[in-house]
Amino acid sequence: MIFKQLHEPLSNTYTYLLGDQDSGLAILIDPVIASMDRDLAEVHKLGLRLAYTVDTHIHADHITAALEMKRAVGSKIAAPAHDQLPCTDVGIEEGIPLRVGSVVLHPLHTPGHTDGHFAYLSGDRVFTGDALLIEGCGRTDFQNGDADALYRSVHSKLFTLPDETLVYPAHDYKERFVSSIAQEKRRNPRLGNGKTLEEFESIMGNLNLPYPKFIDYAVPGNRQCGVCPSHLPEDLAQYCKQMTESPQG
Ligand code: FE
Repeated sequence: MIFKQLHEPLSNTYTYLLGDQDSGLAILIDPVIASMDRDLAEVHKLGLRLAYTVDTHIHADHITAALEMKRAVGSKIAAPAHDQLPCTDVGIEEGIPLRVGSVVLHPLHTPGHTDGHFAYLSGDRVFTGDALLIEGCGRTDFQNGDADALYRSVHSKLFTLPDETLVYPAHDYKERFVSSIAQEKRRNPRLGNGKTLEEFESIMGNLNLPYPKFIDYAVPGNRQCGVCPSHLPEDLAQYCKQMTESPQG
């Protein structure tokens, strides 16, 4: 399998490129609209054609490139069926793998950061979205977030994977790239090292995080599979910059 980890600097999002040499097809997990030209160039540089974009959840911190990539190169939009977005081509459900040539994603419903959140297991890698970050996890105070549900998702669906499974998160804010299930079970300060549900709820309830500055634009845009609002305040314009400078289609 061809594998590449791509980084979008504004929201510190990791986008993952998974490609199959034999069929010449590729998947992008969590592509970001501001980086779509770069990401499509990566796919093409490898001699691949983008078959699917796959999102882990409805993001609050960036706009997905799913719809614009579909317009640009005809990729299909795969997203959790739970969210019932009319713009998706394939509704992801647990137990129904997404196959692109020899690349197989096994969806794991991992609610808690959002109620429709999915992680994807592919061989010895798991793409954990915002359910499990390196020594952290996504916040649980928006979009039907639920600390209790997140704790159960991580402990029952992710920490039960083989210890050697590599953890590829949707974000990292400290320039880390990859972890493993064993490492998170041991070192995750919120969820690992014997932390109880009560301790986790108390940690998540006392984070005192600021209101996400892009959420009021990102969520409605992502419910349409990635539409940038026509008028963004100047300090947020960079979230959609590439699209205003070089419209696709
Ligand atoms: Fe998120």
